[in-house]
This record gives sequence, structure tokens and C-alpha cells, in this order.
Amino acid sequence: MPIRKISRTILKSLFGEPATLMYPARARVYPTSSRGRVAIEIAACIFCGLCRRKCPTAAILVNKEKKTWEIDRLKCITCNACVEACPKKCLAMRNKYAAAQTARQNEKFQAPEAKPGAGG
Ligand code: SF4
Ligand code: SF4
Repeated sequence: MPIRKISRTILKSLFGEPATLMYPARARVYPTSSRGRVAIEIAACIFCGLCRRKCPTAAILVNKEKKTWEIDRLKCITCNACVEACPKKCLAMRNKYAAAQTARQNEKFQAPEAKPGAGG
């Protein structure tokens, strides 16, 4: 490596901005192209299970009877397949990362109770 290039790298490291952030005091602004994490609008979900069937890592669990939708964030590879498969468009990739976990645990969403007398 030429000496000029090395000097430039050393100077940049000494006087430039650090590559790391004082997280969580300073939150990272993610690039718009980053996929983030899967989010669900549970009120729109019909529990058809298509997302579960399309998921290549079996990260999703759907229970039609209990009206629950679960995701194992540690299994999810943010491939977007579930988002593309959902017929109700209630899944989306949010440009935000899931919080750190201390135990392996699915994130569970429950459909809101139907209002009495509402719908068929
Ligand atoms: S594909 Fe969409 S509507 Fe069907 S279970 Fe998954 S999130 Fe719900
Ligand atoms: S983004 Fe991909 S890996 Fe993650 S839950 Fe959806 S289908 Fe599964």
C-alpha cells in the first residue's frame, strides 16, 4: 500500500467521525434500503397461513382458532417472502430492528376481539 494512502487512512482514523455510535444514547438512522423487520397489522389478518407456508425458515406460526400470529425473530432472515405472499397486505417490512432478546421467545400478536353484532 503506498505511503500516501496509509497516511490518509491514519489521519482519517485520528480526526474523522468514529464508525460506531453511542447507542442507545444516539439512535442509528437506517438507510431506506434496509429491510428492518417484519411488522403485522393484526386487525387485518385473516389467519390464512400463507405467510407461514412461504416462510423458508419456519419463523412464523399462525393459529386460526385462537387468532394468533407469531414470529421467531431469531429465525427470520428478512427475505420478504411472507410480505409478498400476504393476500390482505397486512405484513410489511418496517425500517426498524427488533430489540435484543435475553431468551428465545416468539413475538405473539392476538387479533382484537370482534365487537358484538359487528360483521357476519
Ligand atoms: S398471509 Fe397475511 S392474512 Fe394470511 S395469516 Fe399471514 S399475515 Fe395473516
Ligand atoms: S421475512 Fe422471510 S424469513 Fe422472515 S418471517 Fe417473512 S418469510 Fe420468514
